[in-house]
Amino acid sequence: MVFNIQPHEREIFNTVAKAARQCNVPAYVVGGYVRDRLLARPTDDIDFVCVGDGIRLAQVVASMLSPRPRVVVYSRFGTAMLRHNDMELEFVGARKESYRADSRKPDVEEGTLEDDQLRRDFTINALAVSLNDEDFGTILDPFDGLSHLEQKLLKTPIDPGQTFADDPLRMMRAIRFATQLDFRIEDETFQAISKYRNRIHIVSQERITAEMEKILASAKPSIGFKLLFNTGLLKIIFPEFVALHGVEVRNGIGHKDNFYHTLQVVDNLCHKSKDIWLRWAAMLHDIAKPPTKRFNDTEGWTFHGHENLGAAMVPRIFKKLRLPQNEHMKFVQKMVQLHLRPIALTQEEITDSAVRRLLFDAGDDIDALMLLAEADITSKNDTKVKKYLRNYQYLRQRLVEVEESDRMRNWQPPVSGIDIMNTFEIPPSREVGTIKNAIREAILDGEVKNTFEAAYGFMLEKGKELGLEAKHILTESTVETVEEKP
Ligand code: ATP
Repeated sequence: MVFNIQPHEREIFNTVAKAARQCNVPAYVVGGYVRDRLLARPTDDIDFVCVGDGIRLAQVVASMLSPRPRVVVYSRFGTAMLRHNDMELEFVGARKESYRADSRKPDVEEGTLEDDQLRRDFTINALAVSLNDEDFGTILDPFDGLSHLEQKLLKTPIDPGQTFADDPLRMMRAIRFATQLDFRIEDETFQAISKYRNRIHIVSQERITAEMEKILASAKPSIGFKLLFNTGLLKIIFPEFVALHGVEVRNGIGHKDNFYHTLQVVDNLCHKSKDIWLRWAAMLHDIAKPPTKRFNDTEGWTFHGHENLGAAMVPRIFKKLRLPQNEHMKFVQKMVQLHLRPIALTQEEITDSAVRRLLFDAGDDIDALMLLAEADITSKNDTKVKKYLRNYQYLRQRLVEVEESDRMRNWQPPVSGIDIMNTFEIPPSREVGTIKNAIREAILDGEVKNTFEAAYGFMLEKGKELGLEAKHILTESTVETVEEKP
């Protein structure tokens, strides 16, 4: 079969062919680029392999291109990379690999094109397109990759047990490709993943997490997480998540399976948002349901406080998965902490003060929180789903109205901690915090008006209750506006 070369590829393919002729080495386009082009998936990274010195080929190619690109050489890996017209071109010499039991890093020696195709993980990743005079543009497909592309099948070129034992990261890659491409993993290949799952221990956490994130960034992450679960890999790499699986029944009362529920929430969210951190929040929103699960005769199953414990678990999980300990993690924590708030609001009468409080607590993340809350509806009863969505629609409207009138999103109480310290001539202390909180709560509850005057009057009263004496009386015009964290 001949590869249908597109106009934007012609220049670079012809240049590599010319350079290869000059170097007297056979050259090919290989791997993921061929696969993705045949699947009509967008891709800009092209891998070239030549039977010879890949670094020299890259240098000759660069000398033929205008403007001449810089060649980045990775001598340790024997590869070279250059950029041209927004494409990243990587060059390597064909190689043969052999593995030892304790490492996924192979011993490498020069090899033929067939050796190089044989070392690749899946038949659909082992396709090559010739750039040589005798068969320019021909697809070289020694393992039936083309037919597997058509059947939407992931299969290893050699014995799958050997493939996964050699480099267990390929188990994660199989599941990631199955998710991204919506392909089926061939039975023997699937069984080999189950069999060799414990080999995942020799793969670094960073690489495991990178694959997990690619699954999470796909259109339907549940495909991948179910495969990870069914092969037993998930239990090893993310046991906290597996703990969500299963239903306990007592006195004939069961609860929903929080594993499948969570995956449904993640899929729902993925229809609405590409934000990877919001997707992590969906993954983790119920993570503390197993440790907070209780049963009593009146209420049945309860998971009281799972949002608080869940938020507290986020940093530990992020650390273990080597995810960043930064504002993204704080965002995930906040989403987990607040995920029940919108639903709680729709179950009671929606008062202005409750809406204000939600706006205040969620701040600029209110839209993300509403997306998560809507995704959290996984009832199979269509009427119920419609009703819940209508409630959220109404809540969204109320959020807009209250935000317009009160501007609560990034609100700061009108009296600051510094005003409190100056008035009572006290140093930073617990009293300052107590009074500040009381002011904030009273305004959010609508008991005190959101003005300096009203808040200041309330502050004086609170101070008195705590036995503090006002040494100075401030007015709005005498206080400096200081930005404080709530
Ligand atoms: P993506 O770009 O989505 O990660 P890809 O298949 O292009 O997918 P790369 O990591 O860029 O993945 O690898 C390029 C090619 O190198 C693959 O198509 C495959 O042929 C080969 N390859 C990559 N990693 C492995 C591996 N662990 N074992 C065997 N072959 C691999």
